[in-house]
Amino acid sequence: MYEKLEMYVDGKWLDGGRSGEDVLNPATAQVLGKLPHATPEDLDAALSSAAKGYEIWRKTSAYDRARIMKKAADLMRQRAEAIATILTMEQGKTIAEARIEVNVSADIIEWYAEEGRRAYGRIIPGRMPNQRQMVMKEPIGVAAAFTPWNFPALTPARKIGGALGAGCALILKASEETPGTAVAMARCFEEAGLPKGVLNLVFGVPAKVSEYLIPSPIVRKISFTGSIPVGKHLARLAADHMKRSTMELGGHGPVIVFDDVDAEKVAAVAAAGKFRNAGQVCISPTRFFVHEKVYDKFVGKFAEIAKNLKLGNGLDKDTQMGPMANARRVDAMEKLVADASARGAKMASGGQRVGNQGYFFAPTVMTDVPEDADVMNKEPFGPLAPCVRFTDFNDVVKRANGLEFGLAAYAFTGSAQTAAAIADSLDSGMVGINHLGVSLPETPFGGVKESGYGHEGGIEGLDAYLVTKFVSQIGVA
Ligand code: NAD
Repeated sequence: MYEKLEMYVDGKWLDGGRSGEDVLNPATAQVLGKLPHATPEDLDAALSSAAKGYEIWRKTSAYDRARIMKKAADLMRQRAEAIATILTMEQGKTIAEARIEVNVSADIIEWYAEEGRRAYGRIIPGRMPNQRQMVMKEPIGVAAAFTPWNFPALTPARKIGGALGAGCALILKASEETPGTAVAMARCFEEAGLPKGVLNLVFGVPAKVSEYLIPSPIVRKISFTGSIPVGKHLARLAADHMKRSTMELGGHGPVIVFDDVDAEKVAAVAAAGKFRNAGQVCISPTRFFVHEKVYDKFVGKFAEIAKNLKLGNGLDKDTQMGPMANARRVDAMEKLVADASARGAKMASGGQRVGNQGYFFAPTVMTDVPEDADVMNKEPFGPLAPCVRFTDFNDVVKRANGLEFGLAAYAFTGSAQTAAAIADSLDSGMVGINHLGVSLPETPFGGVKESGYGHEGGIEGLDAYLVTKFVSQIGVA
């Protein structure tokens, strides 16, 4: 059932004879497969193949590019069950979530296929009668992208979609912890007829691969999704070589629950959002500021739902929350819980790892959490829901905006006036009012402050792979 792990370079599949690493199933900690690592020669081959692929792809009409990309998206949909199974095996999330992720990823590819046909420029009136001033949008060239393990289909889809839709070639280094999904996706592009070299897929020691690819003069654009420290490191490297970059980094999403809502209904929405992918989502709701008038009702319902969630292997159809994706996350949860408890927080549900097989951690609702606790300040990236009280609008805005993160923020209110005021006040790249869904193929996705810069999704996500060329032409010399 699991994918054969290979790299895809210059239209060829590479595996044997290379050193590599084991890929584990987080539900069991069993080995799923052996992942080959790229040698420097493989990376050189990926670079020169991408350079050649780019020359072909940029000259392919946007119409024909769209045809191939849409075919790849269709193949992903046809294989959704198989790809979702691979995804769950290597990442842990429930099969229902994995199916949605694969289908949304196909939607992203399709959306960029179409949007690439609308990479319009403009004409600026000249100052002379025979002058034509044209602004043209051209692909930036070869891009290198680095994707993490929490959305093994979705993050590659955003980068593949944006790059290929714009006419760029891409070298993708997908996560070594969840490589099978990216391999299965690359097979769809191959079978859809993508010219060789346009998409290359490599794996390795992340730092070695990025430090090899980013300085190469062939690479013109970097896109990274992952943690803030790694993002800063790659941004520095990109700056040293004057490469354009998109940085989708961490978040610590505040959720403000005003007193004019049905607190129990909001708690149900909060729980569904919080425990999705066991909380390993960069736009996850992570700090719950609840008006003191509805606080007890909200946390009571939230904890009740958390206690009743069924944990298990994501492939079991009645599982509602899978394991954490790796052992590091369980250790991180234990540390955050220990720190919060030591500072006086109470566990209304969960608070500990579950079982002795795989990487399970209980859905955890914390109350009375002091605001200097680590969980209120460091991105938890797990199923922890610290809840605190507020009474005053300006005070809660200050607390919600108080961290260095600025990815997603949410508020729940029954008042249109409060909704507008809070949306205007939150210092965040994305704001959800009365729901938690701020990520669609056609909408811009990106952060401010240390959460990064640039966007994926929406026309902004295509623009990230385009350069502007100005052509000024006067009659005949
Ligand atoms: P990490 O910081 O080591 O790695 C984060 C990601 O960056 C991984 O996918 C990793 O393969 C990649 N990476 C690491 N060093 C790299 C390098 N030099 N060049 C290129 N890629 C590199 O830690 P981790 O344990 O994997 O995750 C920890 C934290 O990362 C989480 O707590 C979370 O805050 C953040 N994270 C964020 C996202 C996101 O969607 N923004 C995704 C995954 C992880």
